[in-house]
Amino acid sequence: MQIIARCPKCDAGLPVSAADAPAAIKCGGCGRDMPLTFSGALRADRAVDSCPVCEGTDFYVRKDFDPKVGLTVVVVGALTSAGFYWLGRDLIAYSVLGSAALIDLVVYGRLKDLTVCYRCHSEFRGAYERRAPAFDLHTADVLELEYERRIGRR
Ligand SMILES: [Zn+2]
Ligand SMILES: [Zn+2]
Repeated sequence: MQIIARCPKCDAGLPVSAADAPAAIKCGGCGRDMPLTFSGALRADRAVDSCPVCEGTDFYVRKDFDPKVGLTVVVVGALTSAGFYWLGRDLIAYSVLGSAALIDLVVYGRLKDLTVCYRCHSEFRGAYERRAPAFDLHTADVLELEYERRIGRR
């Protein structure tokens, strides 16, 4: 399992392999030492049961999708389409726009889910079984506030 551990101080994302299970890592952004606690399930890539950064047990699942990539496809598609439209080739313009939207859909649909920690926003990727529910705004509000109080951000 690959983990992006989120630094509580500066929010930098630090890649960690759960199989190595280091007891602590140093943040590349602010130099802070982060102690990590890996559960057996994390090490074995079986499940995400407890967060190595904040020890929270609440997670949600979302698509592993970089919004920037999707936007680029749409923008490039729209520009190409506008070019053809300007040349008076309406049909080509519409089909270019259509395929851009379609590519977006296909890419989005093929992406795997990743698990995210509600409290510290660390991310988990691997072959483990996804058991966490979808994102819930109310849960996020409550848990983020609790976490930020704990690490002294508020
Ligand atoms: Zn940091
Ligand atoms: Zn966490």
